[in-house]
Amino acid sequence: MPDNVAPERRSQIMAKVRSRDTAPELAVRRAVHRAGFRYRLHRADLPGTPDLVFPRHRLAVFVHGCFWHWHGCKRSRMPAANRDYWERKIARNVARDTARQTELTALGWETRVIWECALDAGIAALIAELAERVERSRSREVKTRRGPGSEVCAPTLPTLRPDASAPASAHPVPLRELEGQQREQDAAADQSGERQRPRPQQHRQHDEQRK
Ligand SMILES: [Zn+2]
Repeated sequence: MPDNVAPERRSQIMAKVRSRDTAPELAVRRAVHRAGFRYRLHRADLPGTPDLVFPRHRLAVFVHGCFWHWHGCKRSRMPAANRDYWERKIARNVARDTARQTELTALGWETRVIWECALDAGIAALIAELAERVERSRSREVKTRRGPGSEVCAPTLPTLRPDASAPASAHPVPLRELEGQQREQDAAADQSGERQRPRPQQHRQHDEQRK
């Protein structure tokens, strides 16, 4: 099929096509989000600025246009005009993609590519993989914690963590109880002549030990 558009204009059109937040990219983001998975977008500190990043899984996802990244499917068709130019450009893109994926692998990231022409299948595969990874890490957590009831406790632990570092005033009642106990202990320590560190620190330690 002949390309009736002037080369410069074609270049402008193609450059627009290539920008971020493309329709396929948005479709992937929406579907993944709806499935309950959270991600980071376009992390510029990673090679190739992956479109979606799942830091917990060290997984970087690229949503590739079939022409720009040369999928080889029927959507990858060279414009008839200025063919040499486009062939060189696409070859550079492909070489860059390969190099970036190699860099990401070297940094300990796994990479996945979702192709524009197989968007639905790519999305389904990604969501299935994420679900499997979550399941795997959950069963690992349970195994390391062991004992009955750990499955019930494990999911609630992350929300408990911030409390451990919360200021002592966040627990007025238990602290007051502790203070009473502490005064008795201090009195005993005074008598034996081995009064230790200042009180506030001891309170915090006790508070943590109670958890
Ligand atoms: Zn394709």
